[in-house]
Amino acid sequence: MSPSTPTSPNRSDLAALRARPTARVLVIGGGINGIATFRDLALQGVDVVLVERGDFVSGASSASSHMVHGGIRYLENGEFRLVNESVVERNGLIRIAPHYVKPLQTTVPIFSTFSGILSAPLRFVTHKQGKPKERGAALIKVGLTIYDTFSRDGGSVPRHRFLGRRKALADLPKMNPGLKYTATYYDASMHDPERIALDVLHDGVVAGGDRARAVNHLEAVGAAGGAVTVKDALTGETFDITADIVVNTSGPWTDLTNAALGTPTTFMGGTKGSHIVLDNPELVAATKGREIFFEHSDGRIVLIYPLKGRVMVGTTDIDADPSQPVVCTEEEVDYFFDLVKHVFPTIAVDRSQIVYRFSGIRPLPRHDDTAPGFVSRDYRIEEGTLGGTPTLSLVGGKWTTFRALAEHLTNEVLQRLGVERTVSTAGLAIGGGKDWPADDAARRAWVSANAAGLPAERVEQLLERYGTRAVETIAAVTAAGAAAAGTDDQPLVNDRAYSVGEIAHLVRAEQVVHLDDLLLRRTSLAFVGGLSRELLDEIATIAAAELGWDDARRTAEIEAVVALLRDAHGVELGVVTTTGA
Ligand SMILES: Cc1cc2nc3c(=O)[nH]c(=O)nc-3n(C[C@H](O)[C@H](O)[C@H](O)COP(=O)(O)OP(=O)(O)OC[C@H]3O[C@@H](n4cnc5c(N)ncnc54)[C@H](O)[C@@H]3O)c2cc1C
Repeated sequence: MSPSTPTSPNRSDLAALRARPTARVLVIGGGINGIATFRDLALQGVDVVLVERGDFVSGASSASSHMVHGGIRYLENGEFRLVNESVVERNGLIRIAPHYVKPLQTTVPIFSTFSGILSAPLRFVTHKQGKPKERGAALIKVGLTIYDTFSRDGGSVPRHRFLGRRKALADLPKMNPGLKYTATYYDASMHDPERIALDVLHDGVVAGGDRARAVNHLEAVGAAGGAVTVKDALTGETFDITADIVVNTSGPWTDLTNAALGTPTTFMGGTKGSHIVLDNPELVAATKGREIFFEHSDGRIVLIYPLKGRVMVGTTDIDADPSQPVVCTEEEVDYFFDLVKHVFPTIAVDRSQIVYRFSGIRPLPRHDDTAPGFVSRDYRIEEGTLGGTPTLSLVGGKWTTFRALAEHLTNEVLQRLGVERTVSTAGLAIGGGKDWPADDAARRAWVSANAAGLPAERVEQLLERYGTRAVETIAAVTAAGAAAAGTDDQPLVNDRAYSVGEIAHLVRAEQVVHLDDLLLRRTSLAFVGGLSRELLDEIATIAAAELGWDDARRTAEIEAVVALLRDAHGVELGVVTTTGA
């Protein structure tokens, strides 16, 4: 989808990798699990290379429901290990990534008292079956009580509470008056999953220096004598990387990567899930800032979730072929509208309010006749060999558990390399979560200490956006010469929440190769429906200046983003008018 063009000047890790195409560990796949494993290995001083065929965090990790959650519904599948680990990790992430992971109040509307209570034990035993019956209040109460027990760790999040119909409707008056109860509990939200992953990646690169090289737009396409052949997506050039161990963290594409390496596997059985993002202020207000998490008429657990002034609605769970791209279909949109109507019957939703759609494939294990919603969400590590080089393939792995999963995977690698772990990632702050000012007074102090002449509200905004790594943006936009170069903090003409210098800094510092890397993952401009043709043109001009794109490349990048937004995200920006580079 992205235009093929010469190598961009900010791909220094690629140049370093070409100069020294060896490492102790090669990690294939730069989703959150590959990135977290890269960071953990780099922290141990292991020479590690990460290759990602698209942009970092552009696979399943960009398609999540943005929940850092214990997974209360996995209790139904008997997945107590996973729920326990997830709750511990959720609480841990609230502490080590407080800039991006926050407690999230979650309310479940309940329409019956007892249904589901009889069928649930059967599911514990068999792990498979068709359509579940609606989960009644009694079952949800049992689940939440167990969940509270897992969550008891000194109060990261409060315990659950139940309300009867009258109080529930007084609490959330726009909810369906047919409900019998609501249950409210806490999980956690990650408003910017892509930014968390970029922080984790940055930690790894900083920790490892020239022994931690991460390259995007570089695909593992084959193998030769124990080495892995990679292909530069921009130039089409290939070269071989040798490593002592190869780790396959290609998510839903794990089998396809193994097949490309000549070691076919049948580990995976991913399912597709879609979301829509609505610009509907009435719905935002009706949720009172809470995630509404409930069971739809078909037994699927779905959500209505206010994020960034919009409302995200999801999700579906449909068997999918990872060799094909997935998109959110019109049937899925109808399904989402139907579920909003079920819970908020008086709030009108229609297609004109959709500002973004997205879809991804969950990297689930092969599941034969188990219904998609009941496939295990737990992960495992599979051993193999590639012409004498040991390989480890990751099967499964949620966003929530990425730190613990990376720790397990790293331990497996360290054991095979005969290297001792020297650093634990448990409790180690992530990126801009380091020295996070936790209360208002600390925040005010941080802002005045780091403003460097910028207005306090702008510094607040950058702190919110990047955590304490905002100092890097502040330094870039206030550097001597920034004003003369036109990369100071001058707001963009078409979006005053971002500045020219901030965009230029993101392009330079965060391995932006294509325009969509910037618009979909370094910023959330696309997610909130904030893009216009004029803004695209303005941002492309900044990227072009930083990356040395000529006018033809700049135009091709804009056209590629317009096509991507239309085909994959249901966003129509129409004809592009360009001002020239
Ligand atoms: C609809 C949906 C909702 C979800 N909601 C949640 C949630 O709310 N909370 C939660 O905890 N989890 C959630 N998940 C699960 C979670 O998003 C994923 O399990 C997790 O992101 C997987 O990360 P990963 O790094 O293993 O895989 P991915 O993010 O898919 O990363 C794999 C990467 O490998 C790359 N790759 C593939 N082949 C090659 C190759 N040959 N060479 C180089 N690179 C390659 C891909 O481009 C991709 O970027 C959800 C998933 C989906 C789809």
